[in-house]
Amino acid sequence: MKTKEQTNTWKHVEKVRGAMTLWLCLLIGSAEVKSAEIIFLGPPGSGKGTQSNLLSQKLKIPQISTGDLLRERAQAGDLEIAKVLEKGGTISEGKLETILTERLSSPDAKQGWILDGCPRTLAHVRILNRVLTALGRSENVDAVISLEVPDSVVHRRLAKRQICSRCGKIYNQDSLAPKTKGVCDLCHNPLYHRSDDLNHDVVINRLNHFKNETSLVLDFYQRSGRLCRVSGVGPKPEVFGKILKCQGIKISKPKEQK
Ligand SMILES: [Zn+2]
Repeated sequence: MKTKEQTNTWKHVEKVRGAMTLWLCLLIGSAEVKSAEIIFLGPPGSGKGTQSNLLSQKLKIPQISTGDLLRERAQAGDLEIAKVLEKGGTISEGKLETILTERLSSPDAKQGWILDGCPRTLAHVRILNRVLTALGRSENVDAVISLEVPDSVVHRRLAKRQICSRCGKIYNQDSLAPKTKGVCDLCHNPLYHRSDDLNHDVVINRLNHFKNETSLVLDFYQRSGRLCRVSGVGPKPEVFGKILKCQGIKISKPKEQK
């Protein structure tokens, strides 16, 4: 067992090394960043979509939202997924595994990816690890970023959230506004406020559900030293700066050879 002091010292060394690596990467250009595999978690209204999108542009690796993948599938005629999206519930583990395998093995994900909103349960973690192993990648993702905001901020932000009535894409009047007000960029159908987003009690339930679901996932990645908790409160660039600092800890670290 390492003593707490040793662990702290080690963490400090890792941080310094991470900061130096990131600085080098930025100096050379993000094309030099190899194999950045990042998981982004956060409750609804945390700004997770916006921030993971910024990171995706910075590192030139795709932002992969499982929500978007499911919506694409449903639109392409997958009845099981369409039903889950419409009525709630969870998709089968087999289906999630297929979807992740296909997406993570596509050419644009060769240099890495940002998984936005997955894995949310330990079962999902196991699926992701199976997929990574099958693809010959390490299970050790580079960073797991938990974007954290107080419940009061979530309530305020959700009140400004709008959703496409057809494809389900999520917008925010402040941070992720559609190109045309009230109209979806993707399918040009009208946007609406989810009544759930405006109902205080329902939001509290959803937040509690999210916390219960993901706390075990966060514990899991904390133990592996990959977790980075970032406050999602504040101006977008400031939050992004904090994310860059923490995800730099692991980026460009050579992947373990199988
Ligand atoms: Zn749409």
